[in-house]
Amino acid sequence: MYHKSNPLLVILSVLMSFTAFAGFNDGPYIYPDKNGYRADLICQGKKRTFVIKEHKAIDFCGRSMKLNLVSNAPTETVYSGAFPVVALSDIHGQHALMMQLLKANKIIDQNGNWIFGKGHLVITGDIFDRGSQVTESLWYIKWLENEAAKFGGAVHFLLGNHEVMVLNGDLRYLHKKYEQTASLMNKPFDQLFSKDSVLGQWLRSKNVVIKINNNVFLHGGFHHETLKYDIGLKDINKIFREELVEQELSSKKRSELGQFLHGRKGPIWHRGFFSEEQKAQLAPLLARFSASRFIVGHTSHKTVISRYNGKVIGVDSSIKLGHKGELLFIEEDGYWRADMQGKRTPLFAK
Ligand code: ZN
Repeated sequence: MYHKSNPLLVILSVLMSFTAFAGFNDGPYIYPDKNGYRADLICQGKKRTFVIKEHKAIDFCGRSMKLNLVSNAPTETVYSGAFPVVALSDIHGQHALMMQLLKANKIIDQNGNWIFGKGHLVITGDIFDRGSQVTESLWYIKWLENEAAKFGGAVHFLLGNHEVMVLNGDLRYLHKKYEQTASLMNKPFDQLFSKDSVLGQWLRSKNVVIKINNNVFLHGGFHHETLKYDIGLKDINKIFREELVEQELSSKKRSELGQFLHGRKGPIWHRGFFSEEQKAQLAPLLARFSASRFIVGHTSHKTVISRYNGKVIGVDSSIKLGHKGELLFIEEDGYWRADMQGKRTPLFAK
């Protein structure tokens, strides 16, 4: 028997936690500077810094990594047209699983190139936290946005509560690997996504809600109290974005509407779409935004699911567990869920 506070064991466990990720790779974390860009990265557990002039690819710990470093302006809130749409959510650091899912369903090819033509890919938030491959997904999706646009398609990455938590310094759900990164970079993890970093600038340009044809996509859901405010989807994006990082506001405090939108009844936290008691609130909310359905992540299910004959679709298929996941397909002939083998099942009668 040993005592829990045996100093030798304490030292040993601290040493073990430092060596657990000793050979890990992470990054890059890139900042524009007068020479082009400075890239900080972790290779084999050691911090390295490079200056990059070339936009397209960098050598990342011995392999070539495709990057898009161009800074981004906010994109539109409303889209319409006869293109297919695919959606997934809550990747939570399971980058390899996301790639497998996108490949099996022919959104990208085996090399990660866009093959979905004029289609739109929607990710309804929560790339951050829990898993250990967050940076990989962020850089890949930023790059894929630009690739999709070349074909007339689009990638929409919407903010989830975990993006907003990390940007605001709430690091409770970080994978241990990122605690190591932060310590090697000698700054808090959220500062790796500061507004002068490439990824930080990109995240600060993101929407929290979009509408494609009659479908409204967001991370959590809308509480019926949203109806008290005379705002449309575009205003919601504008205010949400303007008040995204509380410490960056000159008042250091959000407005009343900003607090509502960022609070528990706001679009990134609310779960009411899956509660029977709040079912009656759906119709007025759909009417307010002239929509037929809400498509949301945040509340985990085993598969992509449909409720109330398709008025609500849940696309958080528990990718975070690291075993499997699903996509939602919206095509002319209906709504489908698609699995890791690319097999499609209709979600509800159209
Ligand atoms: Zn969430």
